[in-house]
Amino acid sequence: MSTDVDKRIEIHVGDITAVVCDAIVNAANAALRPGGGVCGAIHRAAGPELAEACAEIGGCPTGEARHTAAFRLPARLVIHTVGPVWQGGDSHEHSLLASCYRGSLKIAAEQGARSIAFPAISTGVYGFPLVAATRVAVDSVRRILAEEPRLERVIFCVFGEEARRVYEAELDRGGPG
Ligand code: ADP
Repeated sequence: MSTDVDKRIEIHVGDITAVVCDAIVNAANAALRPGGGVCGAIHRAAGPELAEACAEIGGCPTGEARHTAAFRLPARLVIHTVGPVWQGGDSHEHSLLASCYRGSLKIAAEQGARSIAFPAISTGVYGFPLVAATRVAVDSVRRILAEEPRLERVIFCVFGEEARRVYEAELDRGGPG
């Protein structure tokens, strides 16, 4: 399974707001307000209309996803998903993070997006250890791609060479089968 599926997965190092694809995923906060990190960068690049569209939605629980237009970004959609804050690993952080990836991919497929870019959700201010978060990200994406032929391209957009090495190692490890 994973060989065919992995042909649809790419790693990109750099700013996610510059990635040209149908949908960009935002590592959002539960209030869906512009914050720091990747969320702040996405809001700055999209323009103030993005915060207005998010305010209309009102908020999003941890582990779920919502979508808006992408305004000035070179994408069609922004999918906002709220990752878990790391609390040591026994507070459902892994399943909540997997649910972020699943929910975002479900929205992308429903909205007709064929390509989607993810940042490393929860691995910044929210403190999820990068190696463990990468395993969840890659496993979740592989599982959905195996069932969802409409998704042609998933881009893991990471900040920095260390993160790239972690993603590459996880992809090299091979999938569940
Ligand atoms: P969270 O609150 O979910 O932890 P952060 O924005 O703090 O979200 O960080 C998530 C990840 O996004 C981190 O690995 C961080 O290095 C990365 N990141 C920050 N800015 C950008 C950006 N412009 N493009 C891509 N990734 C980014």
